[in-house]
Amino acid sequence: EASGATPDVGGPLPHRRLGRTGLTLPVVSLGLWQNFGEADPWSTQREIVLHAVDRGVTHLDLANNYGPPGGAAEESLGRLLARELRPLRDELVVTTKAGYRMGPGPYGEGGSRKYLLSSLDASLRRLGLDHVDIFYSHRFDPTTPLTETIGALATAVRSGRARYAGISSYSARRTAEALRVAEQVGVDLVVTQVSHSMLNRWIEEPDPHDPAGASVLDVAGAEGLGVVAFSPLAQGMLTDRYLDGVPAGSRAARGGPLRPAFLSETNLAHVRRLDGLARAHGRSLATTAILWALRDERVTSVLLGASSTRQLDDNLAALDAPALSAEELEAVDALPSD
Ligand code: NDP
Repeated sequence: EASGATPDVGGPLPHRRLGRTGLTLPVVSLGLWQNFGEADPWSTQREIVLHAVDRGVTHLDLANNYGPPGGAAEESLGRLLARELRPLRDELVVTTKAGYRMGPGPYGEGGSRKYLLSSLDASLRRLGLDHVDIFYSHRFDPTTPLTETIGALATAVRSGRARYAGISSYSARRTAEALRVAEQVGVDLVVTQVSHSMLNRWIEEPDPHDPAGASVLDVAGAEGLGVVAFSPLAQGMLTDRYLDGVPAGSRAARGGPLRPAFLSETNLAHVRRLDGLARAHGRSLATTAILWALRDERVTSVLLGASSTRQLDDNLAALDAPALSAEELEAVDALPSD
């Protein structure tokens, strides 16, 4: 159980600095996208979050629409904060986002100032907090001027509702643009949250729409932007979860966002090869996937999901494993990317 007065919470795990900020994050963070909906048992939700915090996973990532239904994950964490985690509030990094569909009508999604700020207020109410640590634009909205979207993040920070501002899933070109706009509107854009795994390497690839052909990682490295990498286990595919079919209760079996198309024979063949490689080096596939996602120092933290404390512990064990060898890295490179 989380002990309310743990003085060195955050200490047990290695931390990395978030870009050029004064903020560090544990190299492993917990996301509440899945497994924190209304239908998920409260006792399990509670156990996972408290265990994570006890193990030093003090960065908890949310978004307005996490659930289902949307808002449920923030309500869950709000309940825990109110009942058990309140004394640790300032030792936690709690983040949220707005961008995807959350409510009905024209102001229920996107990148407008109206939507972003009303959504942030609603998130704070559900969380029972007066501020989040990072507020993200969850996705680039081509129908809203970037000055408006980033300007709304600036307001969020200036009004004290967020400590830091971030963007998520922006291309390299849009990331570079957002950084320029942020300077104009006077906010420090400090982090980008992007998908990244051995099966999904887009952030390493040159953006054909970027004038310099830069990748997201190039832009982040050059600008001192922190990178939080989500779904490093490819939603469970880069574990032993699907090696022998689709087990009951798994994300794929529950009709979650791990769509059957992802479990194609081609992908599963890659997964089996990666599993063989991991085992040949005495590791689990999940350990290899996590070490791989952290191999680049520009990545501040990997954002994992978990449906049990056992998964979390298995995944944290990666941090005690030796670094990947050049041979392993080359073998991963030899696999085709999505
Ligand atoms: P992961 O790739 O870490 O997948 C997590 C899932 O993999 C778990 O829920 C579990 O699935 C399975 N799993 C984890 N560990 C193990 C293990 N050791 N053995 C077997 N199976 C395991 O990340 P997520 O896709 O969950 O994303 C993580 C977070 O990233 C989200 O919660 C969210 O905060 C963030 N995110 C952000 C997005 C954005 O647009 N900014 C988009 C998506 C995610 P199972 O349920 O089958 O047990």
